[in-house]
Amino acid sequence: MKRRKFIQSTAIATIASSLPSWIGKDKTHILTFSFDDGFKKSFYKVAEIHEEYGLSACLNVIATGHMPDFKAIDEWIQPELMGDFNDWNILKARGHEIMPHTWKHLNLTKISPSHAKENIDKCLDYFSDNLDGYKDEEAIFNYAFLASTPEIDQYALQRVGAVRTGAWLVMEDTKVNMIPHAKGDITFGAWANGPDNIDDYVDQTVNDFLEGSGGWMVVCLHGLDDEGWGPVSTTFFDSLLKRLVQIDKLSILPAGEVIKMG
Ligand SMILES: [Zn+2]
Repeated sequence: MKRRKFIQSTAIATIASSLPSWIGKDKTHILTFSFDDGFKKSFYKVAEIHEEYGLSACLNVIATGHMPDFKAIDEWIQPELMGDFNDWNILKARGHEIMPHTWKHLNLTKISPSHAKENIDKCLDYFSDNLDGYKDEEAIFNYAFLASTPEIDQYALQRVGAVRTGAWLVMEDTKVNMIPHAKGDITFGAWANGPDNIDDYVDQTVNDFLEGSGGWMVVCLHGLDDEGWGPVSTTFFDSLLKRLVQIDKLSILPAGEVIKMG
């Protein structure tokens, strides 16, 4: 059983790590479901759903979420729900993407710039020490609350390849990002909704995107079913991926794969 499991997960890791950067090149539409916070139960489930369709999940975790002194951020982010870096390394070995979602989920626009910069460094240093195969230059810094300023972006981009902020902060008359055509210094925007179930919002957002001329749509999600702010239901998300993988013009990719396309 153990060996069988090992072979299975190795096969999945091989598929995902060989997820070539060409995979999106003939596609007009790229879609990323960028899951935040690091809920243990939901993130394993999100990974499983992606695996059913041969996809890699895009999972962003709070560096300190598993630490004994981690305090509830709000009614959704509760210490007992969070996974740890053992979980994240297991999921990464299965071919999923694990990226930084801040040191302790502070809104970096509401603290001093020097405190914000210190928090970014602490987060990235922790990832570097604890996440297998982590490299700053391949990383995306995913701000809490999709909140950043140009000064904070510029600071983070000295270390990471890209930052993910609020779509409304970086887009004027379009809802989608351009597909990156150069590596490094990439600032891209994500959309989010909550606090209740957002199945309908996600369905509508994805359908609007598919009707448009293309680009890179990033939808920020959190947990499944009863976990996280603005959750999606497991049955909805599973059937959504099942439908989307059949669309020729579309690639569903974790953000780290998209920034490599440049
Ligand atoms: Zn968050």
